[in-house]
Amino acid sequence: MEKTYFRKGFGLKSEIAGKLTADYHSAVVEALKSNGYNLQVGPLTFRLAREFGFCYGVDRAVEYAYETRTKFPDRRLFLVGEIIHNPHVNEKLRAMGITLLVHQQGDFDFSAVTPDDVVIMPAFGVTIRDFERLRSIGCVLVDTTCGSVLNVWKRVESYARDGYTAIIHGKHYHEETKATASQVMKYPEGRYLVVLDMSEARMICDFIEHGGDVAALHTHFGRAVSPSFEFQRDLTRVGLANQTTMLSGESLAIAEEVRKSIVRRYGPDCLEEHFRSFDTICSATQERQDAVMALLEEPLDIMVVVGGYNSSNTCHLAALVHQHGVPTYHIEDADAIDVRTGAIRHQPIGSKSEVTARPWLGESRIVGITAGASTPNNKVGETIARISAVAGVDLDGALG
Ligand code: SF4
Repeated sequence: MEKTYFRKGFGLKSEIAGKLTADYHSAVVEALKSNGYNLQVGPLTFRLAREFGFCYGVDRAVEYAYETRTKFPDRRLFLVGEIIHNPHVNEKLRAMGITLLVHQQGDFDFSAVTPDDVVIMPAFGVTIRDFERLRSIGCVLVDTTCGSVLNVWKRVESYARDGYTAIIHGKHYHEETKATASQVMKYPEGRYLVVLDMSEARMICDFIEHGGDVAALHTHFGRAVSPSFEFQRDLTRVGLANQTTMLSGESLAIAEEVRKSIVRRYGPDCLEEHFRSFDTICSATQERQDAVMALLEEPLDIMVVVGGYNSSNTCHLAALVHQHGVPTYHIEDADAIDVRTGAIRHQPIGSKSEVTARPWLGESRIVGITAGASTPNNKVGETIARISAVAGVDLDGALG
């Protein structure tokens, strides 16, 4: 009987290495790295964060998708949503003949998938319901879910098993958080509630301590809670977790705020009975945030952050820089910088739409660069090349 579930690679790394290099390598980035993550080009100094771009989970997922194409050259290949949140990478997969499945009325539309097809699951995983629907089709499944996401799943599952409601710091509409939240549904009494930020966490803390208007909470949290959630019943024992790509400082602060409320409500001696917590920020996210903080210790005139607008970790890197008062441009792709006009298309921090700015480089001389965990190096390199061109300097000449 044909094996239909894979999650450990196909051992085809050497076969795909050339294509991965062609699609994502950057000589500019390598030059910066070998020069201590700095590059002086004419009047410009580029300073690259020491940790940026593809994380281990994304590296693995992208490699696995390329290996899948090589392993099944004659089969139809589908991908549940996006492999990662980067338009360039998803486009490369489309060009390899992989069809990206989309949502229809809240659920992924699997109607085109047959038992003869191969379906790739993304780095952020899929919900239990989607996994079961795919299994019932009988197609080959290639599971690229990141190990760090699996760790969060184990955590929230243990909360559900032990009768604690999982409070997840994350975005309830993000694929990873949807998949994580669904894990609690393995248990009949499993419950979850997703809080986006400290202000939502404080609403919950207030309810834990003083009770309040249940209807207003239902209206506010809407789909961010499990079915049949009862605020009165389901907030007496809680366990904290987070989407792996949130701002770690905020996640820790939220956990602490909830802990204090539980202590005030039930007393310090009953803390363990009512509260559990575990920091589930992944190490790659943490390292990229730490690297940005290190970059901010020295002067920067501006910072350019490269990565998908729907990439949670990229948005958080941009927010971190912005919070420290450095003019920040979050761009989705290098082509957001128009060398001919000198304009830049970017998404201002906290906004949901793109704007075009010109002039934007001005008299800036020290330009910080970083990229989210789903951004390939060639997009970082192209960004540096385009900034150089807007400043009228010759990057190729500088690199020899
Ligand atoms: S950001 Fe973290 S959890 Fe997400 S794919 Fe990368 S390593 Fe895995």
